[in-house]
Formats: sequence, C-alpha cells, structure tokens
Amino acid sequence: MTHPLLIIGAGLAGWQTVREFRKLDADTPITLVTADAGDFYAKPTLSNAFGQKRGPAQLVTTPAATIAQTLNVTLLSHTRVTAIDSVAKTVQTSAGVLAYRDLVLATGAQPIRVPLAGDAAEQALSVNSLDDFGVFHQRLTALGEGAPNVRIAIMGAGLIGCEFANDLAGAGYAVTVIDPADRPLAALLPPTASVQLQEALAGLSVHWHLGATVQAVNRQADALVLTLSNGQTLVADILLSAIGLRADTSLAQAAGIACERGIVVDRQLQTSAPHVWALGDSAQYASAASPGAPTGRTLPYVMPIMAAAKVLAASLHGTPASLEFAAMPVAIKTPALPIVAHPPAPGQLGQWVEQVLGEWWFASEDLPERAHGFVLTGPHTSKRMALVKQMTAVAT
Ligand code: FAD
Repeated sequence: MTHPLLIIGAGLAGWQTVREFRKLDADTPITLVTADAGDFYAKPTLSNAFGQKRGPAQLVTTPAATIAQTLNVTLLSHTRVTAIDSVAKTVQTSAGVLAYRDLVLATGAQPIRVPLAGDAAEQALSVNSLDDFGVFHQRLTALGEGAPNVRIAIMGAGLIGCEFANDLAGAGYAVTVIDPADRPLAALLPPTASVQLQEALAGLSVHWHLGATVQAVNRQADALVLTLSNGQTLVADILLSAIGLRADTSLAQAAGIACERGIVVDRQLQTSAPHVWALGDSAQYASAASPGAPTGRTLPYVMPIMAAAKVLAASLHGTPASLEFAAMPVAIKTPALPIVAHPPAPGQLGQWVEQVLGEWWFASEDLPERAHGFVLTGPHTSKRMALVKQMTAVAT
C-alpha cells in the first residue's frame, strides 16, 4: 500500500506546498493534518483588516473544503499531531496514527510570551492566526467599533506591532505602543527612518512609551492597569502582545530532528531525518555561504515560503532543485508611512547611509557605491524594483 504525502499545517507553507506539488503530480495521495479549520487566508491581512472593516469571515479567501477538493487532498482539520516517529514513518494525531511516505512540517511559529506580573497577566492577546484574530476582533467590537474611548495597548514596536498600531488607530481606536527600544522598528530601520514612522503614527494619535517594558497587568473594574518598567502606569481596555514569534520546533525536537532557531533544513528542504521536510515559519534555512554550518536563519515572510514550496515540491517529486533566495524586500503595511525594507544579510559589515530623507542604503566600506540592503519610505518606495535589481541574490 502506498502511504500518502503527509503535510502538517494549513498555513501558507502547507497549502502552497500542495499547490506546487499538484502542478507536478496529480495523483499521489496527499493528507493534510491541521489543528485549525484549514481555511485558506492571507495572514498579512490580519494586521490591516480593521481599516478595511473586515472580520474573520471576510478574510477567508478559500474555504477548507473547496481548496481540499480542488487540490485533491484528504484534509483532517481540527486534528493535532502530537508525535512523529521518523523510523516507523508514522505520526500520532488526536485522531489516531497515520503512516506517511514523506512528511512535511509546516507548523509555523508561536508568539513569544514574556512573564508578566499581576492578576490580569493572562489577558494579553496575540494575533498569529485567523482564530486569534477572531478572538481579538470579537473583544474589540464588543467594546464598540472604532470607538476613540476604547484604549488598546500594544507591547512591541516591531513590524506586527507597528502595523496593528496603524490599522487600529486608523480605525478610530486610542492606541498606545510600548517597546524597550528607543524607537519603532529598531531592528529593521536606520534611526531617521524610525523617527519618520514614529511621527507618522503619532499623527494618527498613536501614543508611544519607548525605552520601557510592561511589568505587570492588573484588573481595575472593567479595565487593565499596566505598570511599566519606568514606573509609569497606563490604563487600557485591551492589551495586544506583538513582541515576536519563535519557530514552532516542538514536534521536530521531540522526534530528535535537528533544530536550532527553527527546524534545520538543507537547500532541498530536507531535515536531519530521512523523508521529513520543513518550510515556512517553522524552518531554519541553510546558509549559502557555509552549507551545513549553523548559520542559517528563519525567514518568517511570505516570499521565502513561495520560493521554498516550489523547491520542496520538486524534492518530493524526485526531481530535486536547490533553494536560492532572490532579493526579497519586506513591505511594511503602515499606510501612514509606507515602508519597504531590505535588511543586509546577517554579519554584513557596513552602515546605513541616508541618500535623501526617505532612502537609505546599507553600504560597506569596501563597496560604498553598492547597497547591501536598503530602506525606502513614503514616495521613495516606488524605487523598490530598481534597488532590488542592484542587489545580488541574498544568501539566507
Ligand atoms: P502558519 O500560518 O502559522 O501555519 C501553521 C499551521 O500549522 C497552522 O495551520 C496550524 O494550525 C498548524 N499546526 C501547528 N502545529 C500543529 C500540530 N501539532 N498539529 C497540526 N497542525 C499544526 N509576511 C510578509 O511577507 N508580509 C507581510 O506583510 C506580513 N504580515 C504579517 C502580519 C501578521 C499579523 C503576521 C502574524 C504575520 C505576517 N507576515 C507577513 C508573516 C507571514 O504571514 C508568515 O510568514 C506566514 O503566513 C507563515 O505561514 P506558515 O504556513 O509557515 O505558518
């Protein structure tokens, strides 16, 4: 009996792998097991849905049953995989044991949780799935849609925190952002670009508490009182935690599969276990500079998944290709100040050089006329393609 190609996870990584594989092979049985409903949605829309007045139902682009039928997939939704046996080539699930020919881990990432003191610490919400968004959306709309007296505190001024701040403030809520850095998007932007973003969001009445962290959350009547590391307190109706994600390596680790910051894969997307593959937010891609060395990195964005799914489908089809990433700038969805960022490769020496306000290049001393990374803001974002062409294919 031929066992199916088994995929764990119905996010972009899981479904895109099926799409790419079906282009090469219409017949091999595929089973997709997922803890959620399996509906297809574009996760980036979670952080600009309020401005577009879209709730969770409107974000589903293809219902699970439709996509499963179209792609000829046996879908086991609301089913959790609890263990992998890579020797027996089986997985244990909440619905029993399943055997596989090949196994794809597309289990995504989990929100990082920081320990908070106080009797309402568990009230901090994270939004990393359609189900999370459903809870957040319901809590907010129950308090009054777009009501300026509804106070939302966001922990984290990274990409997701800033996108939510823009979306929610634009939808009329009173938004405060708290971050230990002294500026938003500190890990991605040069300081003057951060200041531009900070001012643009302040123009939407976003309040900033920078250089501070939330230490405690306590309930006071219907509200939450946040105590910050600088001694200040602030009152909020909702607390959103956007302090980052960590690759979900739990299943792989328990099965003895090599993991570092993510599930370690080579350029064919193979893990350390035969017939087990990984991609998406759960994976750590091999470094081009030193294949096999522990210098790969996670790339929790859409474009790397599209490239990886194509290569993985070829590997699964028996016609392996090698994963090479083209330059993939990230568009930050802050309409108050549109931003395109292409950070330099890790370890790249150099510094940010402002060409004009709105255009920064990461330049090295030996090649100052070449951008190893760039950041564009406002109208300068239209130069994105021109700058991408200048850059060589980036090593992961
Ligand atoms: P996920 O979508 O997290 O899917 C993981 C799947 O695995 C889920 O179906 C889950 O149920 C399932 N699963 C996990 N464990 C198990 C188990 N044990 N058993 C069964 N099923 C399991 N990227 C961009 O490039 N541009 C953007 O503008 C952008 N905006 C974003 C905005 C937000 C708010 C967020 C959160 C992310 C954003 N990203 C953006 C990142 C991008 O959306 C992700 O990189 C991508 O969606 C990850 O897809 P994935 O399939 O790897 O993981």
